[in-house]
Amino acid sequence: MTRPIRLEIDLPSIRHNFKTTRSRSQARHLFAVVKADAYGHGVLDTAKALADLADGFALLNIEDAVRLREAGITQPIALLEGPFDAAEAEAMAAYRIAGAIHSQQQIAWLAKGSAKQPVETWLKLNSGMNRLGFRPEEAPEALARLQSLPQAKTTTIMTHFATADDDYGVAEQWSRFAPVAAASGLAVSAANSAALFRHPQTHGDVGRPGIVLYGASPFEDSVGADIGLKPAMALSADIIAVQRLQPGDAVGYGRRFVADQPMRIGIVACGYADGYPRIAGNGAPVAVDGQASGLVGRVSMDMLAVDLSHLPQAGVGSRVELWGPNAPIERVAAASGTISYELMCAVAPRVPRIAHG
Ligand SMILES: *Cc1c(COP(=O)(O)O)cnc(C)c1O
Repeated sequence: MTRPIRLEIDLPSIRHNFKTTRSRSQARHLFAVVKADAYGHGVLDTAKALADLADGFALLNIEDAVRLREAGITQPIALLEGPFDAAEAEAMAAYRIAGAIHSQQQIAWLAKGSAKQPVETWLKLNSGMNRLGFRPEEAPEALARLQSLPQAKTTTIMTHFATADDDYGVAEQWSRFAPVAAASGLAVSAANSAALFRHPQTHGDVGRPGIVLYGASPFEDSVGADIGLKPAMALSADIIAVQRLQPGDAVGYGRRFVADQPMRIGIVACGYADGYPRIAGNGAPVAVDGQASGLVGRVSMDMLAVDLSHLPQAGVGSRVELWGPNAPIERVAAASGTISYELMCAVAPRVPRIAHG
């Protein structure tokens, strides 16, 4: 008998979410962001599921990009941070993989390459996030330098928003980016998921949705279902033991939870070594055989406990959804002081992953 835990990925939900995003957005093209193994959903499965829908794919490392090419993905692929050394710039040319260019160093790597096949480049502007990119006033010179290289063909100008999901909004960054973008004559790519759902003025030529494809809301005040999305990931594990508590009995390490009335609790075969956040608070939502309940006590390495007091039918063998369609990942994240993105990416390799087509 194998340990009763599994990560299920519903590929039709990813397709649904892509179509919903398309219908909400005015961007001419949508590149599906599949970095971090498609936010834990499996980069190959996800790309294949979207192969007839997405206009392109965006990710981080060239190894994944090459895997997509070798799996028969023919759409454009863009590396969001561009090459990390000169050899990668050459490999991008060989595999027809585009990439962001955010530094003079990267331009120098391109210049060292053979010019047999130019690399498609996206000029990356730093419009206020201050991670990567040329400042707006540096952009014309960087673009001129790129355009003088036979090794590069610059098609697109891009930037990334720090606050598209919150009340600060995108106006400040957009006002820095938009004039430079317009003057460049290049295709424009700025919108992440939050901007695609909330800031239509930024949609431009290439939208870059990530989190919404996986069915989670980028906004603090909603969950995926509220904005027409279907959660594509379900982490579930079974109850392997039941305990009855009397008032004053505690659960787990540190006695973080102490019963103040008689209780029944279920011990679930999932812990922080599986990627469930140890920091999740009492009451973090779960669904036991589809019924809402909550976490009790501190999460252990391999187990956690849930309240069964109001669920007399539940017992050993009951399936507990830790997050998924019946236990929104956004709420589990909020109960853990983080965001859905981090939970999706953190599911451990020891959890078997099953993709439903
Ligand atoms: C991750 C990423 C995205 C997608 O962000 P979401 O919030 O998941 O939509 C878009 N653009 C860039 C540059 C990124 O790094």
